[in-house]
Amino acid sequence: MESQTHYLNNDEELRVEVKLGTVVTATLVDGAAEIFGAELPKKTPTTLPGGKHAIFSWRGATIEIAGETEMTYTANASAPMTAYLNVDGVLQRRREAARAAGTPGPRVALVGPTDVGKSSVAKILCNYAQARWTPTFSDLDLGQGGITCPATIGAVPIDRPIDACEGLPLEMPLVYFHGDVSPGNNPTLYKALDRMGEMLRARDETNAAAAASGVVVNTMGWIDKAGYGLLLHALEALAIDVVLVVDHEKLHAELSRDLRGKKIKVWKLQKSGGVVERTPEFRRRSRDARVREYFYGPLGDLSPHSQTLEFGKVSIFKIGAGPSAPRSALPIGQESSADPLRVSTVAPSMSLLNAVLGVSHGKTQAELLSSNVAGFIFVTDVDVANGRFTYLTPCPGELPSRNLIAGTLKWIETR
Ligand code: ATP
Repeated sequence: MESQTHYLNNDEELRVEVKLGTVVTATLVDGAAEIFGAELPKKTPTTLPGGKHAIFSWRGATIEIAGETEMTYTANASAPMTAYLNVDGVLQRRREAARAAGTPGPRVALVGPTDVGKSSVAKILCNYAQARWTPTFSDLDLGQGGITCPATIGAVPIDRPIDACEGLPLEMPLVYFHGDVSPGNNPTLYKALDRMGEMLRARDETNAAAAASGVVVNTMGWIDKAGYGLLLHALEALAIDVVLVVDHEKLHAELSRDLRGKKIKVWKLQKSGGVVERTPEFRRRSRDARVREYFYGPLGDLSPHSQTLEFGKVSIFKIGAGPSAPRSALPIGQESSADPLRVSTVAPSMSLLNAVLGVSHGKTQAELLSSNVAGFIFVTDVDVANGRFTYLTPCPGELPSRNLIAGTLKWIETR
């Protein structure tokens, strides 16, 4: 396998772009380096999956990359990384004070347009914090499936470094299925993220360590018009008290104006020069890759189970207009008159083929809106004539709940 050795000076970063569906490995031969704040182990290859990665060193390092990359280059990243480290210092002091006073720690949100590095900075702050604390990472960006599948929002405690390949520690994720990869088709449902804020607050009341550790939230990149309204709503729902605006003067000015008088700090943060703009096509493919990863694992080495079930054994619901009528299908300017939070049943039909369905913890139809999901199944075959369907699931056996939620999220499995 092709391998290259790269030498990093102080404050330099090795930026590695890997083709989706392929992997390379990075080995720290000498010195010290980190990937989005997670220390790179010495002399042990770390797998880097398809995507864009940054290996940063404060004191210099020798890195060996094995495998074929699309692009690899070195750059100085002193300014942004020092700024992120300074923010970490402030947050650590806030956590100390919170622990001493028995109050909640910092609740931080990364905000800004798309492709400025919000999720990367969120990861860096969580990785820096997890050595002494257990911060909660929360992702409100429906588009990329930051925690599990796309079309979800969620929160997860970070009690160990975020692995470059495996991603977030997922023993205890709190995941809500929105069903669509954009909040614009049902903003009212997106606002229902209030329930996640309530869950996190309830947890804080019983878990002082988690409360003092605080929350780091990655928000979506839709920041104008209705998107700005959703952003303000999200900041309130999650009781955010530190807003880090990445690379957007106007948004910083707007938030400073609109949050004046509240106990919320609004700080500017610069974007790293390494952040890579992703095309709509790349985003679509990385979304598909996230769904594949959910069922097959990050390295494609897990075997999901195929099961067939009678439609009568489950109830499939949609929320709002659901899968049959996305906004884009309506005539321009026309809004769907349906109640955006109406829960209705989905009749068995071929429209369910290739759908990714959420397995809800909600026990009744009324509970579906406020319940998180246990996981997801992927419909691989629909046999309407015989009243049954076949699906893939990561776990064998009976589904944890018979209440399934359908949105517009579909996946075409390609090998
Ligand atoms: P969005 O809101 O649009 O999902 P974002 O603002 O959260 O995007 P990121 O996902 O953090 O941005 O970054 C965009 C891309 O750039 C990602 O693929 C990420 O891995 C990559 N990236 C971020 N920082 C660096 C860096 N310093 N060097 C190389 N790649 C980077």
